Amino acid sequence: MKFGGTSVGSAEAIAQSAEIVRAAQKEWPALAVIVSAMSGVTDMLLKGANTAANGDSETFRRLARELRAKHENAIIGLLNSSAAQQAVRDHVFSYLDEFENLCHAVNTLGEVSPRAADAISSLGERMSIHLLTARLQQMGLAAEALEASEFILTDELFGAANPMMEKTAAHAEKRLREKMNNGEVPVITGFIGATKSGAVTTLGRGGSDYSAGILGAALNANAVWIWTDVNGVMTADPRIIAEAQTLPELSFREISELAYYGAKVVHPKTIRPVIERGIELWIKNTFNPDHPGTRIVSDNHRISGKIKAVTAIKGQSMMNIEGRGMLGVPGVAARTFSAVAHAGASVTLITQASSEQSICFSVPSALAARVRSALEEEFRLELHRRDIDNIAVLDQVVIVTVVGAGMKHTPGIAGKIFSALGNQNVNVIAIAQGSSECSISLIVDANAADAAVRAIHGLIGTNKT
Ligand code: ASP
Ligand code: MG
Repeated sequence: MKFGGTSVGSAEAIAQSAEIVRAAQKEWPALAVIVSAMSGVTDMLLKGANTAANGDSETFRRLARELRAKHENAIIGLLNSSAAQQAVRDHVFSYLDEFENLCHAVNTLGEVSPRAADAISSLGERMSIHLLTARLQQMGLAAEALEASEFILTDELFGAANPMMEKTAAHAEKRLREKMNNGEVPVITGFIGATKSGAVTTLGRGGSDYSAGILGAALNANAVWIWTDVNGVMTADPRIIAEAQTLPELSFREISELAYYGAKVVHPKTIRPVIERGIELWIKNTFNPDHPGTRIVSDNHRISGKIKAVTAIKGQSMMNIEGRGMLGVPGVAARTFSAVAHAGASVTLITQASSEQSICFSVPSALAARVRSALEEEFRLELHRRDIDNIAVLDQVVIVTVVGAGMKHTPGIAGKIFSALGNQNVNVIAIAQGSSECSISLIVDANAADAAVRAIHGLIGTNKT
């Protein structure tokens, strides 16, 4: 079971998570728990590191004080005995001293290496495990706090490290199996691992889910449960669509598309190791534990429903490179996207018509100006010769994505989507469909985004699809 940042975000939340562990352990005696940092903590740690690197020697000290207070409140709220409080405080405060020392070093050097950033951002989970563990112990469970750097072995890609699955499985088996069989509950840091020389690595932001996937696979678990703060995966963002509902089931492919297209679900890397081994994967709500949540199933599973969910990624800009001189000239697309990559932008959607007279793609708006200058630089000659007329940027657009594995081989779905949009007067600026046929993405004006999501959501679950 993995508990996310909000599930360990306060004394009340940790107490609730501890209740869930106690109840679950009755049914699943061999249980391992993975936890995130308290919500907001990883951001604060990284802010400390980055401000320190930029010459600011105050901010990280202030953040350390805030982090002490935040954890201290949880300690006081969770634990009765002053000895238990002090034991947790010792762990937490020594890590916060380490935070200040590392930030001081970063400040002196004037730069934060990926390795240093991982040493610093790993501290949140290394503190939070002690809070939940002590609470479980107070409830009479045999819990033990463990750092995953002891058994999740990764490569040296600091900031987005990849696990070495075989070695990790062997280490995890040795370190955890016997404890679990004896009814002990290991409470393990999410998010982190270590290289073979012992340096702490992180698996990427939001990576505690991935830790749960890795350990579920390594220990050949029956099930992996991700505890979060919503009732599983919804058909749409409930802030836009009041009638949005929890999806009881989603396939691996569907959830991957959703995770990519902006829905806040699980870390996309979590799913593969689990589903490949046929391990059950559930997403559940810590604050509404009786709700069944969402079950993720393999792609081979029969898929119910055609359109399953609709999401919107806001804050996008659409770039259009246009010109008659591009027709049939090889390499324009390659040069375009390598210029975009050099500008540090990741492309969210691409379309090109067969006339080859324009390439259209979207990037996050924050990077649009940089991407445009990179393209103007790359195509200076073509622009000068008028082979390319224009590099146009349309800001304030939104990508609306419709997901559903059942859309595959079902003719007419796109037609229904476009009619529903037409009926609401939503103008579609560009369209892309992956060849997996599991999602269709549309670019619409930001003002029309909510209407588009609502119109498409109206097609879900009715016999209209
Ligand atoms: N604490 C880490 C983060 O905020 C990992 C996680 O929460 O999954 O990115
Ligand atoms: Mg988190």
